[in-house]
Amino acid sequence: MAAACELADAGYGVTLVERRPYLGGRAYSFVDPVTGCQVDNGQHVFMRCCTAYLAFLQKLGVLSKATLQDHLRVVIRDRQGRPSSLHAVALPHPLHLLPSFLTYRHLPWRDKARVAYALLCIYLTDQEDWRREDKRSFLAWLRAHGQSPAAVARLWELLIVATCNNRVDRVSAGQALMVIKTGFLQDPHGADLGFARDGLSSLLVPEVTAYLAQRAAHLALGRQVQGLEWEGARAAALRFRDGSRLEADAFVSALPFHQLLPVLPPELRAGPFFGRAASLETAPIVNVNLWYDRPVMEEDFLAFLDSPVQWVFNKGRLHSHTSSGAYLDVSISGAQEYFVLGKEELQALVTRELAALLPRTAQASLVRCLIIKERHATFAPAPGSWERRLPAVTPVPNLFLAGEWTDTGWPSTMESAVRSGSAAAQALRRALPLRTSTIVPGAIPAESVLVKG
Ligand SMILES: Cc1cc2nc3c(=O)[nH]c(=O)nc-3n(C[C@H](O)[C@H](O)[C@H](O)COP(=O)(O)OP(=O)(O)OC[C@H]3O[C@@H](n4cnc5c(N)ncnc54)[C@H](O)[C@@H]3O)c2cc1C
Repeated sequence: MAAACELADAGYGVTLVERRPYLGGRAYSFVDPVTGCQVDNGQHVFMRCCTAYLAFLQKLGVLSKATLQDHLRVVIRDRQGRPSSLHAVALPHPLHLLPSFLTYRHLPWRDKARVAYALLCIYLTDQEDWRREDKRSFLAWLRAHGQSPAAVARLWELLIVATCNNRVDRVSAGQALMVIKTGFLQDPHGADLGFARDGLSSLLVPEVTAYLAQRAAHLALGRQVQGLEWEGARAAALRFRDGSRLEADAFVSALPFHQLLPVLPPELRAGPFFGRAASLETAPIVNVNLWYDRPVMEEDFLAFLDSPVQWVFNKGRLHSHTSSGAYLDVSISGAQEYFVLGKEELQALVTRELAALLPRTAQASLVRCLIIKERHATFAPAPGSWERRLPAVTPVPNLFLAGEWTDTGWPSTMESAVRSGSAAAQALRRALPLRTSTIVPGAIPAESVLVKG
């Protein structure tokens, strides 16, 4: 969507192709037929450091449909119900989080001193270090920097599972250092949290649709790309599942890597460029949506330690139209071991945990449970994944790559998706600049561009 809007802005004739009958990709919502509530395919959170995503929301005029904290504040409870918070105060970075680390009751003082040392080391890293540190796991980095098992479990896992969708032993140290420095250390407001105030699809899909229509771009929904047709070394057309085809001068793929590779001819798929992406992996997220017969939670959201219930979002409060406190979304990231559980087992596990963590749920009646498992929720930023992420420019002169898994440096986020779309659009514009004489306001220029996905 970001690539399509940017290219349409620049005057290219764009067709945005999507296999499903609706836009939104991995960040979408639907109306639950039983409760009538907007249900996200999974809670999506962004941070103020997600500058490209925020700029995209602003360009579409939908910033007011999101809530953004004026400073970071996350309450973290342990199994005994003891709260502690991570909060930013008005001190210059990287000191803005210092008071909350000093008062963080889930770690002993000795660990806090070591955490402060590790944070200082992270603060001093730069892009070169992140690339160099990509081969080892963040757990190996933490151990090498004196972090105790308690600090790993009670602080670092909390930050990394939520942002990188995997445990610290499965995340590249380079990716984790990038996330912690960018989000938590280099700007006092970098980690302010943001949420959509309604279902994800209503946040920006109507506006993207209108934005493209105003720029004479076309939407081709429900069209699944099966392959590309070629003219020599250049891509010439998309071939769809229903046998139809669509010609264009240039193509931007925004497909996830595991959906892009089957679309390519075997010699490209296995070749030295695209073949690198074949060893990327994905990681699952499970969201358990629960409706109770009465309010069971006051806070907007809470994080929990020592429990499979990592985060609970009070959708009733976040979504302004839903009854407050009675609709919760339990979000479980890096959810490999929970993904394989059946619905009854997952529901029993989560409601049992909630009875301990949020005792009011034990007194209330559960009205409905809706579980959404996303197997390929994100690409997995595993150790060594950096060099498997491909750049926007490919060996095919008129094929460009977008998608959150491409070489943006960011973990799998909406921010990475928007950055990648922008990078692909810019690469295309550099390689195939429009002749200004062909740009007629409101008309489709001679050069047409397809953006898939
Ligand atoms: C449960 C869950 C929770 C998440 N939480 C967060 C979060 O808190 N914060 C955050 O920033 N990110 C989060 N993410 C990740 C975020 O949703 C993704 O990183 C982002 O949406 C990826 O965008 P994309 O455009 O690169 O890919 P996608 O959104 O996957 O878009 C690719 C599109 O290509 C289409 N497509 C695939 N194959 C074809 C084909 N053959 N022909 C035509 N079209 C095709 C797909 O239908 C899809 O619409 C979460 C993801 C999930 C699933």
